[in-house]
This record gives sequence, structure tokens and C-alpha cells, in this order.
Amino acid sequence: MTNAINAGMPSVEIITIGDELLIGQTIDTNSAYIATILNLNGISVKQITSVSDNEEHIIYALNDAQKRANIILMTGGLGPTKDDITKKTLCKYFNTGLRFDEEAFKNITRLFTSYGREVTPLNRMQAEVPTICETIYNEFGTAPGMWFVKDEKIIVSMPGVPYEMKAMLQNIILPKIKKQFTLPHIIHKIVLTQGIGESFLADLISKWEDSLSPLQIKLAYLPSIDIVRLRLSTKGYNADELNNNVNQKIEELKQLIPQYICGLETYGEEKETLEQIIGKLLKEKQLTIATAESCTGGYLAHLITSVAGSSEYYVGSVIAYSDMIKELELNVPTQLLQEHGAVSQPVVEQMAISIRKKFNTNIGVATSGIAGPSGGTDEKPVGTVWVAVSIGNKIISDRFLFGKRRERNIQKSAQAALNILRKELI
Ligand code: AMP
Ligand code: MG
Repeated sequence: MTNAINAGMPSVEIITIGDELLIGQTIDTNSAYIATILNLNGISVKQITSVSDNEEHIIYALNDAQKRANIILMTGGLGPTKDDITKKTLCKYFNTGLRFDEEAFKNITRLFTSYGREVTPLNRMQAEVPTICETIYNEFGTAPGMWFVKDEKIIVSMPGVPYEMKAMLQNIILPKIKKQFTLPHIIHKIVLTQGIGESFLADLISKWEDSLSPLQIKLAYLPSIDIVRLRLSTKGYNADELNNNVNQKIEELKQLIPQYICGLETYGEEKETLEQIIGKLLKEKQLTIATAESCTGGYLAHLITSVAGSSEYYVGSVIAYSDMIKELELNVPTQLLQEHGAVSQPVVEQMAISIRKKFNTNIGVATSGIAGPSGGTDEKPVGTVWVAVSIGNKIISDRFLFGKRRERNIQKSAQAALNILRKELI
């Protein structure tokens, strides 16, 4: 440990600033991100506060957090426009003026040059920082971060733009904090249970739950529609011991309620999307794919191409929204459309086969459905969707009945198509 201003576990609070957070226009994802990263690095967050772009509120929140925390991480309010007042407020809070930071200005110039633009006076002003702060480099934006130390407390102000804040936190702020504190390990492990409500579950495992506290393991019940997550959390300096304790308790739980446990989840890890999984499978098997989309209108293509490297396996799409395009571009016979309608098994199968042949790929995927909210009939209500996958000489198709909400139906149709494909590929 070097230069420790405060050995041991730091107590951290987050303050997110912005009117948009308080009117529900923007969800405070910054806090969730910061808290996750800190936890993964052994730092517990004690409180998260969101305040508006208002001097009085910001100062009140800072004074309040200062009483409890030794690190306060703030985001937001650092834009060049008049509505963002965090920098000015920090000057008032620390009773300091502004200085011009040459390094920050170089960074602003670098960014503007890369956009092919002249630095505006408004953006030049972003290089002004409170005299007593240490400037934190912003790789992706013009607003520098600011690091203050006062009365042995660290107060850091970061931009609100999530990707700017993320880079700053990961690359500079976190390493700086780690240098100054001896951090413990925090372990969170999550057990997924299905088919039992939380109160029944609590009854069933109450003895097991009692055995957790001597090991300093905390248990949380996190119910959602069909799954109750059980999170086991513990903290300490011996990582092996912590892991062993938690793993042993999970094993005991598996013995106790095997019929209700449906999986484990890793805290802090982003889940792989279906399109990423499919991308991997297609690459592995060296297969190519094309799509023919009616009700999903290109959404399926969007999902597939949102994966980096998708050009290795994805060729293209025909958005055959009208019957005319289904006939002209995908050789769906008029008679088939008249007899069965566009939302039908024979039509969607023909679409999948045709796109595979037209684009000369190994696989063709097609969707056709009634996204709603209107257009449904008794026979084919809103939410009826046909999906087909053509692989070589094989054709797989399935009918789904989703709900009444258009956007959800489009998303679910695309997910259903990807899922059929995934099952075929494995
Ligand atoms: P600002 O630093 O206040 O100029 O914020 C710039 C943009 O970042 C805002 O328009 C929001 O879209 C976004 N933003 C600010 N605070 C947050 C937050 N806590 N969580 C997610 N996005 C945010
Ligand atoms: Mg703002």
C-alpha cells in the first residue's frame, strides 16, 4: 500500500446530477455501472443520490454525503451549456476559483481536430477547472474530470455521458483509488430458482439461511416474474476462503431444493445476446446466412449486424413487407398468398427458401406476422407470427402467438427466429 490517505475499506457514495434523471427522461445507468465496477473491486457503495442541476441541491447532497463517506463520486452537469452548473458549484463548495488547464485544452483541440472542427469559445471554456482540483483526462469527451481532496475525503466529478464516464472510471479513477486503499474482496453469487414463490422458498430454506450468518454471508431474495434470484454476498480479505464458503453453501442449497434451482448467474458479467451466440456458431461452422423479413421489417438484420464481425457470415436481407415484394423478390406464388395469406406457414417457408437461394447462402431465415395493434382476425389474431429457417434441404417453421404490443411483437419475432436458428445450429 502506498500513499494511503485512509487504510482499510473506503466508504463510497455516488451523486448523479441532472434534471433529466429527476423527470424520468434518463435512467440513472451511471450509478448502476459505477456500483458494479466498484463492487467487483472490493468497494461497497453506501448511498446513491440523484439531484437536479441546482446549486443548492448539489451542495446539500455533497455536505450530506461528506458526513458519511470518504469517497464521493459524482457524474453529470459538466457540459458546456448554461444548464450544466456542476463545475461552478464545485468552485463555490470548495471556495476556489477557476484556472485554465493546458492539458485539458490540448485534449479539447485533439477531439475537435478529429471531428474536423474549430474549437468554439464555449468549448474552450471547458478547459477551465477549479484551481484546487487535479484534472482527469477525458479520452472520449471535452469535459475533463476533476479530483478533489479535502479533509482527507476524495471527491471526484465525472461527465454524465456514460461512455466518457466509464473510460474515466476504469482507466484513471479506479486505479487511483486502489493505490490509496487496501481493498477487500467482495463476492456476489447468484442462484436462480424457478417454480416457487419467495415466501415458500424462504420457509423451505430457513435453516440453511440461518447457517449463513456465522460465515458472514448475506442473503437477498430478488423476485421477478418467473424467477426468484438468491444472491449470496460476502466480503473479506481472503478470497479463497470467501469463495469456498459461498460455494459450499450453494452446494448445500442444491442438495436441499434441486427441483427449484434452474441455474447460476455471474454478478457483473454482461449476458451474451442470442445474436452473439449465433454469430459464434455460424463462424465456427463456417456457414452464411440471409434474412427475408416481413413483420420484423429489418429488425432481425439489425440484431445480426450489431455483432462485430457479422460480415463473415451475414450476407443481406430483403424486407418483403408487401405482398408485391414477396412475389417479385422472393418468388412467393400469388396463389399461395391468396390461398393462405401472407402470415402463413407455406408463405414464410417459401420466403426462407427463396432468400437462401437468391443470396446463395447456407441458411435463409424468414418472418411474417401481424405485429398489431390492428390487422388481426379471429383466425389470425394480432401477435400471430410465422418464422421459418431453411438450411440446405431442411426447412423448420413454427407459429407463435405473442401479445398485442407492436414493438414487443417485432422484438419477440426476431428473438424467436434467432432461437430456432440457434437450436438448429447446436
Ligand atoms: P451532462 O454531463 O450533464 O452534460 O450529461 C450529458 C448526458 O449524459 C445527458 O444528456 C444524459 O443523456 C447522460 N447522462 C447524464 N447523467 C446520466 C446518468 N446518471 N445515467 C445515464 N446517463 C446520464
Ligand atoms: Mg446535464
